[in-house]
Amino acid sequence: MSLPVDGLVAVYPAPKEAFQLHRLPLREPRRGEVLVRVRMCTICRSDIHSYLGHRPNPTPGVLGHEIIGSIVALGEGVERDMRGDRLAVGDRITWSEFFVPDEGFHAQVLDLPQKSVGLGKYGHLSVDQDPNHHGGFGQFCYVLPRSWILRVPAELSDAEATPVNCGVATAVCLVEQAAIRPGGAVVIQGLGLLGLYAAAIAKTRGAGRVIGIDGVAARRAMGERFGCDAVIDPAGLSDDGLIARVRAQCPPVGPDAVIEICGDPSVVPQGLAMLREGGVCVIGGLVSPGAWASIDLNQVLRKLITLRGVHNYHPRHLLEALDFVVAQRNRYPFGEMVDGRYRLDQVGEAIRDADERRVIRAAILP
Ligand SMILES: [Zn+2]
Repeated sequence: MSLPVDGLVAVYPAPKEAFQLHRLPLREPRRGEVLVRVRMCTICRSDIHSYLGHRPNPTPGVLGHEIIGSIVALGEGVERDMRGDRLAVGDRITWSEFFVPDEGFHAQVLDLPQKSVGLGKYGHLSVDQDPNHHGGFGQFCYVLPRSWILRVPAELSDAEATPVNCGVATAVCLVEQAAIRPGGAVVIQGLGLLGLYAAAIAKTRGAGRVIGIDGVAARRAMGERFGCDAVIDPAGLSDDGLIARVRAQCPPVGPDAVIEICGDPSVVPQGLAMLREGGVCVIGGLVSPGAWASIDLNQVLRKLITLRGVHNYHPRHLLEALDFVVAQRNRYPFGEMVDGRYRLDQVGEAIRDADERRVIRAAILP
């Protein structure tokens, strides 16, 4: 079987500059690599941060890390996915948004492979770096050695499966870190894709009360379909008014957990004020440096609050995310979150629509 000789990649020369389509050669996958044809890539908020230059990514760059693809060729030594299922040419797969250089201290001792020194991420590299095709905004992508791969079951649509390897896996991690117990109350600050998934996962894990906060009416409406028992529009409410409204809905002492997933640091002090004594505050959306907020740490001390950050996810969360979507797809219309579709030559437009929150998840179909 012969390999295609080349494929298109949407490249941005520098932050905020227009995307250009480059036709770049393909090579045989090396040992440990898999060459896939990209079926769909959805735009994550971190792609937008990279494109706008909020984070120091190398350019000219290739973006896109929330991807699924079909296997074109398997490199030597890649036979099974992380579950142990055999992989074959033509299989639809998802894979971890990152790859690690080796099984170092973070992986072996700390059980934090997602923070390994020298970790690389898809859609975060210069196009000049071998093998050139390493992001989702292109027709092909190489899955690189020491990534975690999962075969996608046939019943999942591409729209259900694509957000699994970033948005859904991160949402699984957020809810795990929030330590929600049966009957517990959780507040989710921000109802973008991650917030909606976090609501559905929290509800499925047995949360008694899930409250979503978002300023966009369409997102609040989606929240009600994805597990929120109540949604609140913060517009027009003072901080004290919003805090009082939430606490009144979580009797007798306030929510057990608050999850920040809106990317606005000013909501964190609100979250700390809402929490009950002994509650947990999880930070998931503040992915760019400079996310300053002024908090009275005496409040953290007095209320015995636990503050936790989530960045990337453990490979087990990828497996849990896929299985969650498969198990709950008849209860929640996950596919509807992918509500904008664009060609590879429309990446700039897709990023603009996603940035202005005109869509929940924009998808590139290369
Ligand atoms: Zn992402």
